[in-house]
Amino acid sequence: MHIKELEYHTPVSLAEACALLSSGGPGAKIFAGGTDILPDLKRNRINAGSLISLAALDGLKKIEKRGAALWIGPLVSPDTLDRSALVREIFPGLSEAAASMAANQVRGMATTGGNLCSAVPSADLPPSLLTAEAELVLTSSAGERRLALKDFFLGPRKTALRQDEILTGILIPEFPRGTGTAYDKFQARDASALAIAGAAARLTVKDNKIVKALVAIGACAPTPLLLAAAGEFLTGKEPTEQNFARAGELAAQGVKPISDIRGSEQYRRDICRVLTIRVLRRALTCSKR
Ligand SMILES: Cc1cc2nc3c(=O)[nH]c(=O)nc-3n(C[C@H](O)[C@H](O)[C@H](O)COP(=O)(O)OP(=O)(O)OC[C@H]3O[C@@H](n4cnc5c(N)ncnc54)[C@H](O)[C@@H]3O)c2cc1C
Repeated sequence: MHIKELEYHTPVSLAEACALLSSGGPGAKIFAGGTDILPDLKRNRINAGSLISLAALDGLKKIEKRGAALWIGPLVSPDTLDRSALVREIFPGLSEAAASMAANQVRGMATTGGNLCSAVPSADLPPSLLTAEAELVLTSSAGERRLALKDFFLGPRKTALRQDEILTGILIPEFPRGTGTAYDKFQARDASALAIAGAAARLTVKDNKIVKALVAIGACAPTPLLLAAAGEFLTGKEPTEQNFARAGELAAQGVKPISDIRGSEQYRRDICRVLTIRVLRRALTCSKR
């Protein structure tokens, strides 16, 4: 398993990175943490003529408040997400997703942007970010555009990112008061395993009524899925065990899992049901803080 010879660029500005990407054509690939792209190159899963590292672009490594929104740079590692006091306070479900990923070494090398752009169905960060109604900033030499994360994933390893575009920011709108978030993952062993299923929930509760509910599932369809039926069912209802159980059933019906070595289709549906109930309970507890 050798990587064939290729060019490696380390641009010092975003404009330079965009220019290299567009002049390099389809063989030019962005290199962030390398934890997905290096194994892909070794296994000949992708063809690359050049790698464009983002490592020198410090502006893409920040987590900060921008107005009322939370801004996450694409080079923020899962380890940094997990340790960030700001993320833990505003969006604990995302910290939980980041903490659930891989082992220490990979959590420190990998990036949030890479986790989204790889578009692997079992990735841990997309479900939480979907429940946050996150927006992506995509930049090329031609300018910048914004895209809702729900429109970004097109299929396994396929996204709406154009060849000449770089993901340069993830914007999370402010959550209303009384909002709680949570993520849970079922995996075959305790560490460094991909999700058999992952579930994220976001609940906003006021006067014991659910004002807004979003549930998203990973690893149980060709893309991470926002499950509208479960969210719509909960909206306007009381946050009771009975209603959470029904939302769990709707989540299990809404996914499209495959059967593989890690679990059958029915097994994955059962796991989705259980995980959905668990994350709803935890999001409810979190909403009362
Ligand atoms: C041992 C191991 C365990 C793992 N465990 C987990 C796990 O538990 N959960 C999980 O979700 N993942 C896991 N992964 C997968 C991987 O670590 C993550 O998907 C990681 O977040 C990818 O980020 P990266 O920066 O390394 O991406 P890279 O490998 O650098 O890039 C991945 C892809 O995204 C593109 N890309 C990256 N950044 C950008 C950008 N800003 N703009 C445009 N394109 C971009 C690259 O061109 C490439 O196609 C694991 C990987 C390994 C090796």
